[in-house]
Amino acid sequence: MKKILAMLLAMVMCMACLTACGDTAADTDAKDVLIVGTNAEFPPFEYLGDDGNPDGFDIALIKAVGEKLGMEVKIENMEFNSLVAAIGTKIDASIAGMTITEERLQSVDFSDPYYDAYQYVIVPVDSTIASFDDLTGKKIGCQLGTTGFFIADEDIEGAEAVGYNKGVDAVNDLINGRVELVIIDKNPAMVFGEKFSDKVKVVDGAQFGFEVEQYAIALPKGSELVQKVNGALKELKADGTFDALVAEYIGGDK
Ligand code: GLN
Repeated sequence: MKKILAMLLAMVMCMACLTACGDTAADTDAKDVLIVGTNAEFPPFEYLGDDGNPDGFDIALIKAVGEKLGMEVKIENMEFNSLVAAIGTKIDASIAGMTITEERLQSVDFSDPYYDAYQYVIVPVDSTIASFDDLTGKKIGCQLGTTGFFIADEDIEGAEAVGYNKGVDAVNDLINGRVELVIIDKNPAMVFGEKFSDKVKVVDGAQFGFEVEQYAIALPKGSELVQKVNGALKELKADGTFDALVAEYIGGDK
């Protein structure tokens, strides 16, 4: 009888342990998911792949970061303009070709920068726009909430900034004649310029004196993830993964 009781007790304890262990594993799983917001309208950094899921340099990079941290990355596709406010609530982080700016630093922290960018100008093929002064008083298409939009809205005299949720919609309105130029980051500008090469051309932002910008991963203010993500980025640069992703998604240009 004693033996049976002892066996029963052991079984009960064992089951309790299994349940408890199960719970712990589930808890850990929950913590190991990193929900990352992006705006998949910014090729080659993020776009919707053939299977309808976000793909691109940033997506591959954040997945590689997740792997280094032992975290599963889940991508949340949303409007660019909503990303910063969603960090720390709806999403754990954002990767979206997002430039480090003083204004954004008021509400989020950034990882170390991972890519240099410039604002470029897209104009109709026959346009003569070539210098900053040529931009005065123009109707300028930009993606809402982007550094390009702020340049058009604040820095160019008499210009009207017209905001779009998708960069490609700004380019379509340029082709339709609703705006006179588009200001957008270099790499997407090159992609759109190539896609619509019979109608538009791309002018180097250096001609307009636009300053270099730096892309970084945005994280909640004070998050311990900042150091971890920086560590992962360092490892990915050291082990060649970062350069391989640049070659795969962006090409020789770095
Ligand atoms: N680099 C620009 C910014 O941070 C544009 C980013 C984007 O449109 N995805 O504002």
